[in-house]
Amino acid sequence: MHSILLTLSVVIALAVFLAWITRKRRKSASKTPYVDALHLLLDGRRDEALEQLKKTVRTDTENIMAYIKLGDIFRDKGYPIRASKIHRNLLLRTTLTEEQNEETLFHLILDYRAADMVDKAVEMAERLMQKNKKNIEIRKLLLELYEEKKDWDKAFFMRQGINKWIKGSDQAILALYKVNAGRELTGRGSEHQGRIRFREAIKLDRACAPAVMELGDSYVREKRLEDALKVWKDWTGRVPHQAHLLLDRLNDILYSLGRYSELEPICEQIIRSKPSHPGATFRLIDIYEKQGRLTEALDLARHAVEAFPDSARGRWTLVRLLARADKTAEALDTALSLLSLETEQAMDYKCVHCGRSSQSPFWRCPGCKRWHPMSAEKP
Ligand SMILES: [Zn+2]
Repeated sequence: MHSILLTLSVVIALAVFLAWITRKRRKSASKTPYVDALHLLLDGRRDEALEQLKKTVRTDTENIMAYIKLGDIFRDKGYPIRASKIHRNLLLRTTLTEEQNEETLFHLILDYRAADMVDKAVEMAERLMQKNKKNIEIRKLLLELYEEKKDWDKAFFMRQGINKWIKGSDQAILALYKVNAGRELTGRGSEHQGRIRFREAIKLDRACAPAVMELGDSYVREKRLEDALKVWKDWTGRVPHQAHLLLDRLNDILYSLGRYSELEPICEQIIRSKPSHPGATFRLIDIYEKQGRLTEALDLARHAVEAFPDSARGRWTLVRLLARADKTAEALDTALSLLSLETEQAMDYKCVHCGRSSQSPFWRCPGCKRWHPMSAEKP
């Protein structure tokens, strides 16, 4: 009997103790303003988090992370100068550990960047990198800053370094840096120096279309049309699946050189690798028509209307050709079908990340700033 009572009282005591501990834990968790602030930040409730952080640093002046986060919130709210003051004040403390010092510096660099003081941000980031060469985060930040400054040579070496570090490889983006560096040079009149960069870009990534475009454009600016044509034609042979990107340029240059007939095999080659390419299809129809090959032009125009049912251009072309071939009834039917046509979709290229679209191809999205954003183009 005694032992039963004893066991019972032990069990009750244990239960009471457990309940007390749990309550205490729960209480202490919700009672620390700092922990509250972290939860609020996770929930995206920034303003409430700000209040909790202010409360935190009033009572616990040694909570360095609370100060850092306080500054970050001000920066995110659009007050980078105020954020930088908080972070700079932290750096004045002599009690900071090496790690806390680096962490604070990192956030101060973000403040300067947000305040459009990119030069200052770069200078500090470079110093921080020298201090801690193993910090990959600072290298990544520095890369973004170089991109912002359009310092493509430095961005190139930084990305190359990061790649070695993480054993990654993105030759295509490295090539685009070279293209941008070349563009800056040709923009300042250094055509030859610029072309060296474009060739380096092609060496890094032989499918780098903008490098080939720019290389030829540079020759065109110097009236070296044959050189431009050679660069473009060679490339369409080596990278046929991208040949369509050069179609406008090849069209113009062959016209100027009076060698328009050479466009025919190029269009045919593009259609072979991209059967529904509207640009190449319509140009080929044009070439056939000019050469009086009406039957071939008609066949291709019929194919175009099937391949691009929403394209008014396709139908108009067919109407014109049918009229020329005296097929008046069919021409009239096709013309009438134009009336029920929806408005043509003009946007050709689309960013796979954010959906931004454009009529001309782009290699860095102007919206989300990511490299290589293009999806397959729509007809
Ligand atoms: Zn985008």
